[in-house]
Amino acid sequence: MSNENSTIHEFDFNLVCEYFSSIERQGPGSIEATVKALHFIENLNESSKIADIGCGTGGQTMVLASQTSGTIRALDIFPTFVEALNSKSASLKFDGRVKGLVGSMDKLPFEKEELDLIWSEGAIYNIGFKRGMNEWRHFLKEGGCIAVTEATWFTNSRPSEIEEFWQAAYPEIDTMANNIAIMQEAGYSPIAAFTLPEKCWTDNIYNQQALIQDAFLAKYEGNTTAQQLVAYQKHEADLYHKYKQYYGYAFYIGKKV
Ligand code: SAH
Repeated sequence: MSNENSTIHEFDFNLVCEYFSSIERQGPGSIEATVKALHFIENLNESSKIADIGCGTGGQTMVLASQTSGTIRALDIFPTFVEALNSKSASLKFDGRVKGLVGSMDKLPFEKEELDLIWSEGAIYNIGFKRGMNEWRHFLKEGGCIAVTEATWFTNSRPSEIEEFWQAAYPEIDTMANNIAIMQEAGYSPIAAFTLPEKCWTDNIYNQQALIQDAFLAKYEGNTTAQQLVAYQKHEADLYHKYKQYYGYAFYIGKKV
């Protein structure tokens, strides 16, 4: 689920949810990267309103909750993920101020200029970086911040195999310089951008998936959807190992002006 692909929509959503629910994070990231990004955000307090968009099962939401004292509304389109997030939040005793909601990022259930902070890890690609930056800005107070991670080209050119993979998966993938320019154009002053360490993808996504793939395939023996899902994820992981010097994930942090 670390990038967009048309065929994924043809898979059985329940199977996809089960597969991704069984790992801690559904997109590249780490506790350290979330904490690092949060260090750039000033002036948060217990009355701060935070939204975590495309939260998945809440890997980064729990980090946000442990590092801030405001209220967090975490939104995802898949009810299974939101249920997992809410039970995680209850077991960590965050449920008084962390609420998982089912909803779509293209129709956010927030008031205009209500939020102090918009967070979104590994998810803005679902509507596109430019569109997300522009549309979500309406929900931020002036001086409020946005912090998102996005797939990013690390070089100006790259081998055709990986170029073609991304053109099919997510043609909006761009360089860090261009994404910062898009963020500024959308009405934010850039605060910081940094690339995520490789382990955010290797240790935290691909290696975690490798641990569950055999059992998942055994459980759904003969199921083409399950086989295709695992094959696609393995292909994505192989490409990452082969071409990781050319692309990866980056955090983009900006302040609404
Ligand atoms: N932030 C999490 C999940 C990233 S995966 C993490 O980093 O672990 C991307 C997430 O976006 C998935 O949980 C997926 O269900 C969610 N998503 C996809 N389309 C969405 C939409 N239109 N609105 C809200 N969430 C969406």
